[in-house]
Amino acid sequence: MGVFSFKGGVHPPYNKDLTNSKSIVPANLPKELVIPMSQHIGAPCEPTVAVGDNVKEGQLIGKSTSFVSAPIHSPTSGKVKKIEERLHPLSKKVLSVVIEPDGENEKVYMEPLGDDPAKIDAEKILERVKEAGIVGMGGATFPTHIKFSPPKDKPIDTLILNGCECEPYLTADHRIMLERGNDVVLGARMIAKVLKVKRIIIAIENNKPDAIEELKSLSSPYDIEVVATATKYPQGAEKMLIKALLDREVPSGGLPMDVGVVVSNVGTSAAVCEAVRDGKPLIERVVTVTGNAVKKPGNFLSKIGIPIASLVEQAGGVEGNLGKIIMGGPMMGISQPSMDVPIMKGSSGILLLQKEDYMTLDFRACIKCSFCVRVCPVHLLPSTLSIIGEAKKWELAEKYGVNDCIECGSCAYVCPSKRPIVHFIKTTKAKLREIKAMEKK
Ligand code: SF4
Ligand code: SF4
Repeated sequence: MGVFSFKGGVHPPYNKDLTNSKSIVPANLPKELVIPMSQHIGAPCEPTVAVGDNVKEGQLIGKSTSFVSAPIHSPTSGKVKKIEERLHPLSKKVLSVVIEPDGENEKVYMEPLGDDPAKIDAEKILERVKEAGIVGMGGATFPTHIKFSPPKDKPIDTLILNGCECEPYLTADHRIMLERGNDVVLGARMIAKVLKVKRIIIAIENNKPDAIEELKSLSSPYDIEVVATATKYPQGAEKMLIKALLDREVPSGGLPMDVGVVVSNVGTSAAVCEAVRDGKPLIERVVTVTGNAVKKPGNFLSKIGIPIASLVEQAGGVEGNLGKIIMGGPMMGISQPSMDVPIMKGSSGILLLQKEDYMTLDFRACIKCSFCVRVCPVHLLPSTLSIIGEAKKWELAEKYGVNDCIECGSCAYVCPSKRPIVHFIKTTKAKLREIKAMEKK
């Protein structure tokens, strides 16, 4: 079978060799865990505990009655020290439950449902995914139980497990596939049962041949296809993956379910497996701590709520002249003003760059070279969108399809004028949302 790909995209330096051979190690618990009540797309949770309460690992500590939300559980046993606003990775303060671990690791997980998808009701699996607070762990953080409940008029025929991990530097998914491949495959079979799909495809970029081999071997008793995709950014974006594997195009403004597909990250699949088989809610995740400003880059199994500073310390501390702290990868990650922010359900990596690793040139006018147009994977005109955004002509941007932008950053990466195209696009989208909300009012 050939290697699947898509039109457009870029080839940034991948720098995955800093951590791709580093096994996952459990991170030590710091003095306090800070668990934000908003870690997902949708309504934030309200705390269900009070200051002074003793909590156990897996205990519910936050929930919401809104449809689009995901409950939050205590990552360890200990005492609730404070409930207050704390710094959040999206650079604002958010109500957070602060827990002081007691080192006892007392657990209150849900009842295990078994490890044979054939013997578990699809509804029970779906309910468990909801109760466990699982969200898209590739960074999207959309509540998974909603993604797995498409409306009846959108029949799904294919589940794609996304193991591309196309962001440079990040290797958390790579290590999960190598070290927890059984969980990934079992999770995929559980998700397929919920969606009632026969076809499961696991897609992995061809720069991870060991993971491809491992998952091929683990999948062989089942009807699961494991395919290699080209190593190209943003191969792991849902729309690119669907086009590359199935030659189906998600319509403008649409979702994968509009073309009969659900895409789920491999880490999410492993979390589904744990929730169903072991009754374990989503309280920890694998995080790559990397970059040239980290002494000993590695992959850590981190409880939700561990501050970045603690993980960096466990990775040997800062090396050299620290310039930038990014949560996520260099292309789509979010720059952090401090290392006080905690790991959340969607935090796949912490990237620390030395000052010399990146340029901070002022941007210049567009020279109409069209480099950005050639790499845009969704065939937009990034140059035009950046000019419109700079001129604040918000409504005009809508006509140029600004809402179809997947914010991959490929355009900004190739721009010789160093134009902050994604920043202009994000601002335009936010303004358009504001305008729509005002109109509704
Ligand atoms: S316009 Fe959007 S989708 Fe196109 S390359 Fe730029 S960030 Fe990616
Ligand atoms: S790459 Fe930069 S300079 Fe070239 S057309 Fe696009 S926005 Fe303009």
